[in-house]
Amino acid sequence: ASRFSATPRGPEDAILGITLAYNADQSPHKVNLGVGAYRDDAGLPFVLTPVRIAEKRLAQDEHHMEYLPVIGNRTFCDKAVALAYGQHSGLDMGCVARMQTLSGTGALRMAGELMTRFLSVRNGQAPVVLLPRPSWANHAAIFRDAGCRVGGYRYYDEDTKGLDFEGCLRDLEEAEEGSVVLLHACAHNPTGVDFGESEWGRVSEVVREKGMVALFDMAYQGFTSGDLDVDAEGVRRFVREGHRVILAQSFSKNFGLYGQRVGCLSVVGDSVEEKEAVESQLKIIARPMYSNPPIVGVRLVEEILKDEKLEIMWREEMKGMAERIQGMRKMLREGLEGVGSRLDWGHVEKQNGMFCYSGLTAQQVDRLRREFSVYLTANGRISMAGVTTGNVGYLADAMHRVTK
Ligand code: PMP
Repeated sequence: ASRFSATPRGPEDAILGITLAYNADQSPHKVNLGVGAYRDDAGLPFVLTPVRIAEKRLAQDEHHMEYLPVIGNRTFCDKAVALAYGQHSGLDMGCVARMQTLSGTGALRMAGELMTRFLSVRNGQAPVVLLPRPSWANHAAIFRDAGCRVGGYRYYDEDTKGLDFEGCLRDLEEAEEGSVVLLHACAHNPTGVDFGESEWGRVSEVVREKGMVALFDMAYQGFTSGDLDVDAEGVRRFVREGHRVILAQSFSKNFGLYGQRVGCLSVVGDSVEEKEAVESQLKIIARPMYSNPPIVGVRLVEEILKDEKLEIMWREEMKGMAERIQGMRKMLREGLEGVGSRLDWGHVEKQNGMFCYSGLTAQQVDRLRREFSVYLTANGRISMAGVTTGNVGYLADAMHRVTK
């Protein structure tokens, strides 16, 4: 018999499982609001024009297929951190360790591995990573598998469908000294609820007072405001206020490079020696895991960010994606009111980024699936990127029917 014959079958990933169910559905009205990947107004995957142009250039170059260094493509990493930290955060870029990662997930995992090895911890225990409640479902698994302890802090208020800021501050104030706080830089997944200026200020103070470390997850830079600089303000403010942040960047969404796995991990330090030491350890972590990162996706980003015209085009199309989503939020709210819903759907329009935390219950989500072939996660999260002028009326009607 096989040595694996006793292996129990594990559960399907909740989010990826939705797409499987959606694909099997025969209804002509079916709508996939599960996965957080951008779709155009025809509901189709969208490849940005500058990405297509960069791809053609690369093909003409007949580029080689050699290994990248373990740390990745340096030019790409430099461009990536410049996009995040900007020009005016007072940061000495010579003190910032950086590494090309397997997108945002890989950056978070590398951060987790680095933290379990090198963040000084009490009683020999692994560091605690505090996640907002709720957070992206994969966060807990990433840090657990990297050997961290995982905790949480209050973040979302079910009643107001906004921030529970009092609860958040209290939980951070009571957190174990030296904890790591995971902060969504913008466009919080799954709630679409972000800190405003004054809240960033208070969180920064508490993180400093408690000697905590801020770990930013920036997977949606550009998707809150349409402007990459505005969306990086939380990170930049922390840096200006002296925090030595850790930052996981993903270019899946804002460059639409999902399957290319383009990301960057950076760690702000005090000196060039520290930067070099951290990078040396990141290489030691990556070498036995996957050895070298992939070459193509980062070359596309490099090509775009090296060419002013392409960069402008990218920023414009990025803004267009954010605006289309914003437009769909408005149409969905108006549609719900139009079909006679008496509930308050203001949050659909107010929340940021790719997701709307609708407030639909698990039973209502289940009815949407069974009666209307509308697919979303059981927590009521709607990927607004899947909403189009073609399906928003159908969706509003279906949502009204299961909530009235
Ligand atoms: N962080 C958050 C909050 C996300 O929503 C995602 C994507 N769903 C990621 C990180 C990582 O995505 P990727 O690995 O594709 O960059």
